Amino acid sequence: MIVRPELRADTRVFLERRATGAGLLIDGAWQSAEGGRTFATLDPATGEEIGRIASASAGDVDQAVTAARIAFDGWRTTTPVNRARILWAIADLIEAHVDELAELETLDQGKPLFVARWAEIPGAINQFRFFAGQSMAIEGNTVETSIDYQPAGKQMSAWTVREPVGVVAAIVPWNSPLVLTAMKLAPALAAGCTIVLKPAEDTSLSALRLGELMTQAGLPAGVVNIVTGPGSETGAALAAHPGIDKIAFTGSTQTGRAILDAAKTNFKRVTLELGGKSPAIVLPDADLDLAIPGVANAIFFNAGQVCIAGSRLYVHRSIHDQVIEGVVAYAKELAMGHGLDPATQMGPLVSARQAERVAGFVSGAKSEGATVLTGGDRSGDAGTFVAPTVVVDVRPDMTIVREEVFGPVLVAQPYDDLDEVVAAANDSQYGLASSIWTQSLSSAHRLTGQIRAGSVWINCHAMYDASLPIGGMKASGWGRDSGKQAMDSYLEWKTVCAVI
Ligand code: NAD
Repeated sequence: MIVRPELRADTRVFLERRATGAGLLIDGAWQSAEGGRTFATLDPATGEEIGRIASASAGDVDQAVTAARIAFDGWRTTTPVNRARILWAIADLIEAHVDELAELETLDQGKPLFVARWAEIPGAINQFRFFAGQSMAIEGNTVETSIDYQPAGKQMSAWTVREPVGVVAAIVPWNSPLVLTAMKLAPALAAGCTIVLKPAEDTSLSALRLGELMTQAGLPAGVVNIVTGPGSETGAALAAHPGIDKIAFTGSTQTGRAILDAAKTNFKRVTLELGGKSPAIVLPDADLDLAIPGVANAIFFNAGQVCIAGSRLYVHRSIHDQVIEGVVAYAKELAMGHGLDPATQMGPLVSARQAERVAGFVSGAKSEGATVLTGGDRSGDAGTFVAPTVVVDVRPDMTIVREEVFGPVLVAQPYDDLDEVVAAANDSQYGLASSIWTQSLSSAHRLTGQIRAGSVWINCHAMYDASLPIGGMKASGWGRDSGKQAMDSYLEWKTVCAVI
């Protein structure tokens, strides 16, 4: 039986205040969904209900979009320094409440507390700080033209101006809720956009707390609105709404396609951060003291619910057995438990549905002839735990090699030479991330140039920072979050030509 440790007083107060269903933030006020509809949010480790979340209708979404449209003129003309001040104040408030937010995230999502406390919530803080700076660095340019038909005695001047895209629908998934939300909100706010945010239905709590903190930081009413609810209803109504100018989406490749369809009607701008099946490649000269825990952590961190997880492992045949043995030993030692238990190194998956999906991939692989060296089964009070899993004896055409599992499941394959491993690594619909484990600078450079992925890490995996663009090639998406590149996608170009 999994026992949930005692919650902090501030977490309990928040849950009493907000997780009672009055949780839509529209035009600066908290309100219930139309008809008072709510749904339960669960502690994934125990299956216990921890709160009721408002289930927004199309009508609620319309109100939120209207509020964001009305707020747009005021926010876009707020001076950059004042936008920066508010972004920085949001970061300060998240920092002041880091323990509470980390606990909420763990309670709602299941991840070990140290992941939320030391990696993800600080990551969210840095997003707001980085983009506070970016809001004061928006610039167009003057352009020398060759237009030579202006009236005699007159001169042509031309320049470009950056303007905010408008009202943004930010739609985020459940694996790292707050930091992924910050990756959308911070650049959009810095650019002068207003927002309607739709958190994932399984993990809305930290977004609701962020909504409170943003108001406290002085963000004007209507600049960020929050609508909670299921993707099929609330998310779909938001994505299709004609008052939305851009959809900033993070989620599955399948939902990404639905987002593209919804965007067609009024040609919304779209950025898509989608799925991955990222290769980790271990070369024969790798430092195995670094590589073995490194590739294990690349997949087992956050129970593999990481878009950039290193889920396909390619190891040179000469060291294959040694590396696999090391990774299996690492997997067997990981302590599973409630995320709030300080001894826990790996928590549950976010829901019983996700655990069933993950276990289904593993049993499917077995029936296709793969060997499961460790893990693969569901356990725990709510059936949401899946032990760290290592699968070998696979063929490139197997589902477990081709599809994103989004759980703690590593698929390992040997290779003999670099050309072969480059071809295997690129043999995927996805192109999100990759890592190379070697002490050879020239091999690292060669592979970096040949792998089709948005990120390549050398002797590390899943390093991200507010300053570094992250996103994918191929079916892993369009555009980038984080870094200056993210800012770009919330700004339009306007060209001005003047005869003076
Ligand atoms: P999902 O696509 O099911 O849901 C993502 C969000 O979209 C949720 O808020 C959901 O409610 C909403 N949604 C669902 N259907 C919708 C619709 N028809 N219209 C509008 N919104 C809709 O994804 P998930 O299962 O929550 O998250 C896991 C996926 O997210 C994985 O594929 C993972 O790789 C991906 N992901 C990608 C990145 C990245 O940066 N590339 C980061 C994290 C997660």
